[in-house]
Amino acid sequence: AVAMEATRRRTQPSANGKSQEQVQEPAQWGRAWEVDWFSLISVILLLCFAPFIVFFFVMACDQYQCSVTAPLLDLFSGKATLLSIWARAPSFTWTAARIYAVWVGFQVFLYMCIPDVLHKLLPGYVGGVQDGARTPAGLINKYEINGLQCWLITHLLWVLNARYLDWFSPTIVFDNWIPLMWCANILGYAVSTFAFVKAYLFPTNGEDCKFTGNVFYNYMMGIEFNPRIGKWFDFKLFFNGRPGIVAWTLINLSYMAKQQQLYGHVTNSMVLVNVLQAVYVLDFFWNEAWYLKTIDICHDHFGWYLGWGDCVWLPYLYTLQGLYLVYHPVQLSALHAGAVLLLGLLGYYIFRSTNHQKDLFRRSDGSCSIWGRKPTFIECSYRSADGASHRSKLLTSGFWGVARHFNYTGDLMGSLAYCAACGFGHILPYFYIVYMTILLVHRCVRDEHRCSSKYGSDWTRYTNAVPYRLIPAVF
Ligand code: NDP
Repeated sequence: AVAMEATRRRTQPSANGKSQEQVQEPAQWGRAWEVDWFSLISVILLLCFAPFIVFFFVMACDQYQCSVTAPLLDLFSGKATLLSIWARAPSFTWTAARIYAVWVGFQVFLYMCIPDVLHKLLPGYVGGVQDGARTPAGLINKYEINGLQCWLITHLLWVLNARYLDWFSPTIVFDNWIPLMWCANILGYAVSTFAFVKAYLFPTNGEDCKFTGNVFYNYMMGIEFNPRIGKWFDFKLFFNGRPGIVAWTLINLSYMAKQQQLYGHVTNSMVLVNVLQAVYVLDFFWNEAWYLKTIDICHDHFGWYLGWGDCVWLPYLYTLQGLYLVYHPVQLSALHAGAVLLLGLLGYYIFRSTNHQKDLFRRSDGSCSIWGRKPTFIECSYRSADGASHRSKLLTSGFWGVARHFNYTGDLMGSLAYCAACGFGHILPYFYIVYMTILLVHRCVRDEHRCSSKYGSDWTRYTNAVPYRLIPAVF
């Protein structure tokens, strides 16, 4: 049907006087239709190796005190084999399966059954039913935003348990970390496979599906745009936000409790990692309505990349700093701790202000003030797959006039701060900044390719007005 529609539009005269090339354009601005060799090889490598990367880091902490070189040296010198390392790793346990099932079940319950009340109580907080961005097929989905409430309830219960109820140990996450990883993998693969099959058999919205003809790419990058069960269970919103991001702060708290249990005190580095990452997580939930307009929700399709990534990659690799600090309880000098805090808060300020400026600008349709002035912008137009023409604006003032993705720059500064909080003893905690740099640079290129297809020559006018992506005069 989509191909027929594209053919139909190819043969129709252009309604707005644009060339036929531009009339064909709309169907192309979502995810790629065709897969080049580089993307295909990257996809296959990621599918094969990403689970082992996660295993490697967690195993390195468990068996080698977080040294990433020691297991490799042991392997090369013959002191260990892949099989002996594998055999030493804790295996799946039914206790972990029960913990994980209760965790995910509880998050589903909170997501589905507790409508948001916070938007009535907290001034400035946007919750309840909100609109998403227009999809390539021209739809606007509705979402129930209740992430902040779910985060608060979950953490309140965690604190109540730790202080009064004593249903489980606050170190429960650390104590079951590797067995839980097997459970997270099972869910990650199950949900990605389910989404893949669902796209063929009963897609939520067929017009927003994208089949590239390559099965690996389809499985990894997803076919359905907004898979849902019923009216409200949205896979992307649920799996992106919970269980992974709600878990992030709980995992860190569990590491903090483990430090206390092992050494009788909590180091300032652990407090810094907990505080800086909690700010980031709370920011995410406070701004969950804004999140509906980010690339994850409004551009990416739901496949293994999001499904497995949210279940396994995010909770296991975004929390490596806290895990490292359990094995290496680093106590920072006041100067070092102060520098880390400053870098983290400055990064957060840039990240939040940049995102806020775009959100404010788009919500008010340009009728707002940015850095005390009326914003400047570039008018642009695009078409959705239903052939309808739409108008949009690209902001060129505030941080959006400094670089085209200054929000990523702030994010990277914050990420570096988490790593630097762990001192300079090992490279393992620095994996996060390396990964985030690759992720955000790749995302930048990916997003710009999409925006250029969507806005055509208007996008070129924008890149001429704001020539750098992340760092002015550098990149
Ligand atoms: P953005 O919030 O920058 O959104 C990019 C989109 O914004 C573009 O596709 C375009 O969409 C629109 N846009 C681009 N330029 C302009 C402009 N000048 N004026 C107005 N709109 C513009 O990117 P992300 O969604 O990737 O990131 C959101 C935040 O999440 C970032 O701060 C990022 O650092 C963070 N993030 C964190 C991750 C993590 O794992 N910790 C992972 C990914 C992101 P349109 O089609 O609407 O024009």
